[in-house]
Amino acid sequence: MTNHYTTYSDKQGNVFDDPDYLMVGCSAHYFVLPEPEEMIPLPVGSRLFTLPDYSPVGWNNQLNEPVLLDTGDQVLYAVSAFLPPGYTRILLPGAYYRTAKSRLPLWGYTAMAWGDDEFMVSAVKVDDNSKWLPDSYDDRGLDELILEKKSRLKDNRLVDQLSICATEYHCFAAKNFFLERWECPIPTSPVCNSDCIGCISYQRSGDIIASHERIKFVPEPDEIYSLAADHIRNAADPVISFGQGCEGEPLVQADTIEKALIKLKNEYPDATYNINTNGSDPSAVKRLCRAGLDSIRISMNSANHDRYTKYYRPIDHAYADVLKSIKTAHDEGVFVTINLLIFPGISDQEEEVETLIKLVKVSGINLIQMKNLCIDPHVYLETVGYPEQKGMGILRMMDVLRNEIPEIRFGYFNRPKNEF
Ligand code: SF4
Repeated sequence: MTNHYTTYSDKQGNVFDDPDYLMVGCSAHYFVLPEPEEMIPLPVGSRLFTLPDYSPVGWNNQLNEPVLLDTGDQVLYAVSAFLPPGYTRILLPGAYYRTAKSRLPLWGYTAMAWGDDEFMVSAVKVDDNSKWLPDSYDDRGLDELILEKKSRLKDNRLVDQLSICATEYHCFAAKNFFLERWECPIPTSPVCNSDCIGCISYQRSGDIIASHERIKFVPEPDEIYSLAADHIRNAADPVISFGQGCEGEPLVQADTIEKALIKLKNEYPDATYNINTNGSDPSAVKRLCRAGLDSIRISMNSANHDRYTKYYRPIDHAYADVLKSIKTAHDEGVFVTINLLIFPGISDQEEEVETLIKLVKVSGINLIQMKNLCIDPHVYLETVGYPEQKGMGILRMMDVLRNEIPEIRFGYFNRPKNEF
């Protein structure tokens, strides 16, 4: 059996292991030792991060409890991994979150260890789609492809936006547009009707930095149409996807999207049309389903009203509208996915899993995308409340869901309609 030793870094970012201590992870703020099946080798494409305000914690076998590593005179930091797409974390890095003084940037921090001869992480692979492997995204030649698209779709502001997304934010979906394949994003909305604590495109206070800037304009229906049509004509397995990380909420621009979508669906019925949304407006969802959507992905951090509302801070709607949107899309015959923002120790609380099961059963959700909620753990736990017990474990949570709802599927990515 592989041992999992604790890891830490020095101030310069050099990462070391300490064979005197076993790795300890966190389920919310509870320290736990991982089960063997909860650890996998560090996936290709992962990044390692130091946690500058956290001292490393390891498991002391003699005391049978977690302890701060003895750092002597040297300042040592806890470390974590950021996983590539397709992997969901199981444990947070072992750290004393309650006493945190500063704010970590918006990343998904994952517990990591040194195994017998390689780095290990506490994670599970939830989607096997090779289209999203980092190896598929070689940037050499990208600049030339961007220039080509700019000259082909002159005066289309969406091409400029996607070139920023592809080169500055390294959005794989935006790169797909220039590489002429698969899922292509269509950002439409500079505003949102929620105020999520961990929004990556807008933060009203300076405490947390948004990693993206929102699109600054609402495109004309013709700009959407011409960019999407170009993609559909040239790409393999084209998926046209409204709602992306570089914008606000696409349902706010439902009129614009509807006009473009009706025309696209009419001329290119075989392409897949998807929207990634917060599901805030059931009547807009209904109109867009009727205009031609094939799939909808609705994001949520929790099926529990209270936790949802504390994190999403909806402005002009309520959690009940989100539930209604899920049901509406299902009733309209659209493939329904929820983008579940997973946080170990919260998502796998027993009552949280029970509520999710009820939601899936009554609303006909087809697939759960198991996304990592990118946020400072302390900020999230302060927001939704520190739980009174640790979670059942993410693997166990998935097993419970499978047992209760055998037809439910798990994944990470949107898919073309021949894979629904
Ligand atoms: S719904 Fe999306 S765009 Fe709107 S605040 Fe939340 S994360 Fe940001």
